[in-house]
Parts: sequence; C-alpha cells; structure tokens
Amino acid sequence: MERENAWLNYTEEQEQEMEALACEYKAFLDEGKTERECVEETVKQAEACGYRSLESCQKEGIALRAGDKVYSVGMGKIVALYHIGEDALDKGMNILCAHIDSPRLDLKQNPLYEDTDFAYLDTHYYGGVKKYHWVALPLAIHGIVAKKDGTIVKVKIGEEESDPIVYITDLLIHLSGHQLQKKAAEVIEGEQLDILIGSRPLREVPDEKKKEAVKENILKILKEKYDIEEEDFLSAEIEIVPAGKARDCGLDRSMIAAYGQDDRVCAYTSLAAMLEIAPPKRTACCLLVDKEEIGSVGATGMQSRFFENATAELLDAMGCYSELTLRRTLKNSRMLSSDVSAAYDPAFGEAFEKKNTAYFGRGIVINKYTGARGKSGSNDANAEYMARIRRIFEENKVCFQTSELGRVDYGGGGTIAYIAALYGMEVIDSGVAVLSMHAPWEITSKADVYEAKKAYAAFLLEE
Ligand code: MN
Ligand code: MN
Repeated sequence: MERENAWLNYTEEQEQEMEALACEYKAFLDEGKTERECVEETVKQAEACGYRSLESCQKEGIALRAGDKVYSVGMGKIVALYHIGEDALDKGMNILCAHIDSPRLDLKQNPLYEDTDFAYLDTHYYGGVKKYHWVALPLAIHGIVAKKDGTIVKVKIGEEESDPIVYITDLLIHLSGHQLQKKAAEVIEGEQLDILIGSRPLREVPDEKKKEAVKENILKILKEKYDIEEEDFLSAEIEIVPAGKARDCGLDRSMIAAYGQDDRVCAYTSLAAMLEIAPPKRTACCLLVDKEEIGSVGATGMQSRFFENATAELLDAMGCYSELTLRRTLKNSRMLSSDVSAAYDPAFGEAFEKKNTAYFGRGIVINKYTGARGKSGSNDANAEYMARIRRIFEENKVCFQTSELGRVDYGGGGTIAYIAALYGMEVIDSGVAVLSMHAPWEITSKADVYEAKKAYAAFLLEE
C-alpha cells in the first residue's frame, strides 16, 4: 500500500497555491510564538473574514442563525470558531481541533538573579524537550506581565533585527571531557537552563546593592522600558523561545524550518480552511487549544469545559439551548483531532516501522491510534469513521497516508482525541508529518501543509 509522492502530480496552479499558503503559514508562525499570540492572530484573521465575538453578539441580543460566523476566546489562550450551518446544531458539527502551545522555557515566578557579574533569568521548561537543544542559540522573550492595577504589559524581545537576543551558555569543547561522558539526558540539566540577560553593572548603586549591580541595571531597564518591577514577575507568563523567523529549508525550497510547528502547522491549516469555506450544511467549527504539551490540563486545556460551555452559549444565542440539545450536538459531531506525526527520518531509521510511518511529501497523515506500550492512552478511532475519512479525502483528491508513532515499544505519545471522544463523538487523529519534532527548529514539507489544508476544508464541508 505505497502512497505516491504528492509533488509528482501538482499542476503549476497548485504549486502557486501551495507556495502562497506556505508564505501565509510562515507569517502566522512569526506572529504566533506563544498560545496567546496565536489566539490574537486567529481573532484578527477571523474578524477580517466576518467573524464576530460570540459574547458581544449575546450582549447586543443578536439572534444567531445559519450563515453567521462567531468566535469565543477563553483567558486569551484557547479559541473556538463556529460557522453556523443550515442543519440544526444537534445534528452535530464538523470540528477541527489543534493545539497552539509548544515546548519552550517558561520563566519561574522569581526568576532574576546575579552571579559573578552576569544577570540571569531562571526557567522551568514546558513540555517535552531535549535540554541540550536549548543551549548556544539565539533566544527571544515573549509573554505578558499582569500588574496589580490590572494592566497587562506585553513583552516581545529578540525578533526584530535591531533587538538584542538572549542566550543559554554551553561549556566550551576544550573543557568538556567530563560533560561528554554523561548521558544525553544529563548533559544539560533543567536547572542549568538559565537565560543570560546582562553583564553591565549599574554605576550609581547604594553600597548594599553593589554586589548585584548588573541585576540592578536590568531592573532599571525593565522599569524604564516596560514600567515593571521585580515583584511583577510574580504575575507574569513569559516564555523563552528560539529567536528568528520561519524560513524555507532545502535548496529546492520544499520544506519549512521554524519553531513551534507542533502543532501550529495543524492549527494554521485548520484556521485557513475554516476561514475560506462557503456557508456549510453542518455547522463547521475550529477549536485551538492550549496546554496539550503538558497533558491538556488547566482551564485553557482540552480537559476543561471551555468547548462544551462555548457550544452551550452558541446554542443559547441561537435560541435552542437545552441540556439535551447540547449533549446531542456534541455526540453527533465529528472531529479531526489534528496534531503532528513523526516523519520517517532515514538518519534514525531504526526508530520507525517503514510500512506504518509517515513520509514527507505524501500528504496529510491519519493516525487511527496513538498511545504507548499497547496503545495505552490512545483514542483508537472506529473503523467505520476511518472509512468515512478515507472516502472524503479520496473524493476531494487529498493526498493522505496512515501512520503510527514509531516502532512498537520505542516510546509513544498522545493527543487530545480521547478527551473529545468522551462526548461520544467520532474523532480521529490526523495531521502533518514533522522532522525533529520538539526541537527548537522543526521541519515540515510544503506539500504536506498544502494537503492538510485541502483535507481540512473537505472535512468541514462534508454533509
Ligand atoms: Mn502536538
Ligand atoms: Mn508535541
């Protein structure tokens, strides 16, 4: 059951569409390096396409009906978009779900310190990272500081050419004899992931602060530029991410290299499909969630009631809310739970089982199941639903392939699919294959990005 390479069959027009999509995708990645930034960019693009805030519609007492487009945001980190279809909502929705959080380094609540005339910010990593990936590369600071008076200060340093970057040092090779004997998991340890942010002491400091003159200088800069005090770190969410823009990869420009493609490649292609579709028969929905990388926990993760609540509000705004209608709406829905797949990497071929692996350029990947050690933690979609998805993709000339995550018992992983399945809806994992998943720079194929968007658009319009 070999799948064909999608690149072999594109017309010139399709190649142009693919390239245009890749450009828009790269711009989205540059705008959205945190879940908050992704939500902001999503809302901006949705509003430009005629979406309105569900909450503001409710305040204005607007009764929603078929053809209306609304969105709802939770805590600035999770967002649901609805394009209301002709069918009654309790016949179910076609839902695209992807996550917009990515592995990174989060600042601790008390992060700033000075050691030997260097100022540092202490971090706690978020999600699964190989810690040695994060040293000796340009890093940027993104996030928000929530002040006691209720104001929010946005921070974004390290992305403009003229901005400074920040950095985590590694030991010089000349003195690494001992370090290089360590296991890879211990070469760089979690507490070593401290961000170097300064080395210049403030001259005019009182005697008792002379030992921390570099830190004092940083505090002075933070006060002047952002009007924040050291105590304000207590109520901040600041993420350290690789600095720099998404770029083409390969001499043939067939790939994209960027931070955070897990899972913004699925989030962006889902959003792009959602924003371009004609008024649907079944209600179309795009749900972009936070906290997937740490177990879908918290009020903005998939385990929260955010989506159920937003859908209840939608029903109410349409004048047809009841508990039973809500339950039927969710149960009769179908979802593509979209997350990235591990792409076959010839450099590490032994980690994959070649018949059941995703390959670059062979289109969107369907994973009937994920999980680890005997499918544990997996959703394992119904064969009947898998058949429906195959049919939709074939009818719409979408290139697709099927995969599982690596060789049996080599590791594994999960997605949010099992959480949506709790409502009794049909849900299957799908997504784009990625090389070097969870590394500071991840690689995708432009053809797969293009096929994913085609697949999502076709899925949303299925009756
Ligand atoms: Mn993911
Ligand atoms: Mn991940």
